[in-house]
Amino acid sequence: MSLFDTHCHLDLMVDKGVNLEAALQAAKHAGVERILVPAVDESNWDRIAQYAELYSMVEWAIGIHPMFVTEQSLEQINHMRLRLESNLSCIAIGECGLDFYHGREHQALQTTVLIEQLKLAQQYNLPVLLHVRKAHQELLKVLKQYPLPRGAIVHGFTGSYEQGMEYIKLGLHLGIGGSITYPRANKTRMAFARFPLESLVFETDAPDMPLSGHQGEANQPKFAKDVLSSFILLRNESEQTISKIAAKTTKEMFNY
Ligand SMILES: [Zn+2]
Repeated sequence: MSLFDTHCHLDLMVDKGVNLEAALQAAKHAGVERILVPAVDESNWDRIAQYAELYSMVEWAIGIHPMFVTEQSLEQINHMRLRLESNLSCIAIGECGLDFYHGREHQALQTTVLIEQLKLAQQYNLPVLLHVRKAHQELLKVLKQYPLPRGAIVHGFTGSYEQGMEYIKLGLHLGIGGSITYPRANKTRMAFARFPLESLVFETDAPDMPLSGHQGEANQPKFAKDVLSSFILLRNESEQTISKIAAKTTKEMFNY
């Protein structure tokens, strides 16, 4: 089995006291062969780029998270562009998106910063890691205006089947995370039982989104295996088919 944790904040996990090398070793043991670390804003770019340089199983994405959007974000977009121009080892843009969980006070600025990042993804031909909370319709509207040549992952998807299919119809992928391990997450579990397998990828969102039975602990990339196990129980396809298709999807998406 070869699993790809497509959304794992290794830097934030270390800040919660988890030993990085031990976590990577445990992930490898669990069959997690690759880990993609998203950026939150310029403050963590160098750090996660360094992780990717040090560990062959780690990749990184450059971006500005919607919850980290400030008046300085447009200046950071310029820095992003400069970095993207000068080679750059990152394999995606993100995470970026829209988050109206705490209200719409920054809706205009979040939207501008998202659009600038989608334009960079178009220009530099990179896939995108999308974050969305309480903003599916607004995000879909922007995505229709800025089609992405290499697609995107809507990370930690927890919406309905109908919402998920709207992204899938645009050629995007959905990230399956720890939420499906909770029996009470019935809407999401039923949705993931039905989505086309080719449109799904796995993730942990570590150190957040602890799995059922691990509440209060820092989540880790090794738990991608348990997300997969929970997912298998929801599907009719065999474990082998599911692993094979998920590996093919990430391989095509990230070109490795
Ligand atoms: Zn994240």
